Amino acid sequence: MKSNPKLTRRHFIQGLTLAGITVGVGAKLSASQAIRKVPKAKNLILMVSDGMNNGTLSAANHWMKLTENKESEWMRLYTDSLAKRLLVETTCADSLVTDSAAASSAWGIGHRVNMGSINTMSDGSMPTPLAVLAKQHGKSVGMVSTARITHATPAGFAASVANRNMEDPIAVQYLERALDVLLGGGDKHFNPIARKDKRNLYADYAQAGYRVVTKRSTMQQLKHTKNPILGVFCKDHLPYCIDRTHKESLKQQIPSLEEMTQVALKHLSQNPEGFVLQVEAGRVDHAGHANDPATILFEQLEFDRTIGLVRAFAEKEGDTLVAVTTDHGTGGFMLNGADDGYRNAQKRFLKMGHCKGSFDSIEEQLDPVNKSENIAAVVEKTLSIQLEETERKVLQKALQTDKSQSLYHTSNAMANALHPILFKRFSVNWTSHNHTADLVEMALFGPGSNLLPGYIENWQLHHAFRKALQI
Ligand SMILES: [Zn+2]
Repeated sequence: MKSNPKLTRRHFIQGLTLAGITVGVGAKLSASQAIRKVPKAKNLILMVSDGMNNGTLSAANHWMKLTENKESEWMRLYTDSLAKRLLVETTCADSLVTDSAAASSAWGIGHRVNMGSINTMSDGSMPTPLAVLAKQHGKSVGMVSTARITHATPAGFAASVANRNMEDPIAVQYLERALDVLLGGGDKHFNPIARKDKRNLYADYAQAGYRVVTKRSTMQQLKHTKNPILGVFCKDHLPYCIDRTHKESLKQQIPSLEEMTQVALKHLSQNPEGFVLQVEAGRVDHAGHANDPATILFEQLEFDRTIGLVRAFAEKEGDTLVAVTTDHGTGGFMLNGADDGYRNAQKRFLKMGHCKGSFDSIEEQLDPVNKSENIAAVVEKTLSIQLEETERKVLQKALQTDKSQSLYHTSNAMANALHPILFKRFSVNWTSHNHTADLVEMALFGPGSNLLPGYIENWQLHHAFRKALQI
């Protein structure tokens, strides 16, 4: 389709219908006409860096150029003229600023839904999500995430529930819908001790033929068979990449996003009918909420390495449509000019390479009774910075009065106190702890990548995927 700034949902659906695909309304051309016109993709891989502002994408590319003298994998999709570049508008049905549930549902069912809904329309109807359609057409389905595998973004690919918080039922739906590979966090939604209904989902998955793994080493030793895989590696979200890198026990227990994706690709590619796979770097979003600069950078870099892995697979296979994108921005992370005519920005930016842990790891090291007691020493050690006396006092004061925790573990009081301190050290800044409404980036390559114009609304992707996969 040609780019059209006034493209409406009706026009878009008409366009796809004329090209041979039924998207729920209107007449369609014959199947033979459709097949002639549509470049068929056997496989689909949707890669999501959840909550990624363009500042995060830019920082990862700067980092790669400064430290490894090459562009990020994402940018190399463009410099090698492999991928088409798109800008995506991420609004949901009831808000300009979306959440992950509504954004993922737009990809899942091709409609905008209200905030918090998983593939459920405001009238309560539940159109069939993409992963289920793929199963109905004989394809395998996989999901890999560094967040809980029942969290909003994976759920939007394969589940249908009224509210994203229904993660216990989502874990059951994945089993009922016979998904082939599930790798991520979220033990509390599978474990009978933590589930509200006390159901042992691990036993139920095993009974259904799944190989169930809970450790990195066990996942890596999995024999190559056709049995589906459930891998759940910790109670909640997986620990941040920066913490896994610097803590041996976490390294042993928790696989990286790349390792999980490798296992998923190996398993799913056994199906001659093809597969659809969602790969989510779910914790880019959480580091954005926490305004934790080194953590978001290293989460994004891990996602970027995984792009390289997926690209190598897709180039070898040749019939794989790959979309690399985000669902929305979070936090507004940005490298800013620093003094000496901005020249100090680079030097400061590179100092993040000395950070040894996330804000979560700082919280874990604080005195459990009096959090402010050792805050300064822990911050200095973890972030490899030297605090001034006034800064120590500001931090201590923030923690003395802080009783709360934010949505994603780290207290906003600590993050807010660290905000100006880290701006001075690393030259990075934030707009808020919230999601943002900026247009987001997408790289699209493989058969079907020419189906969309250069500017789209997120729900349009669903229809292009179906058209390319012919499902
Ligand atoms: Zn978020």
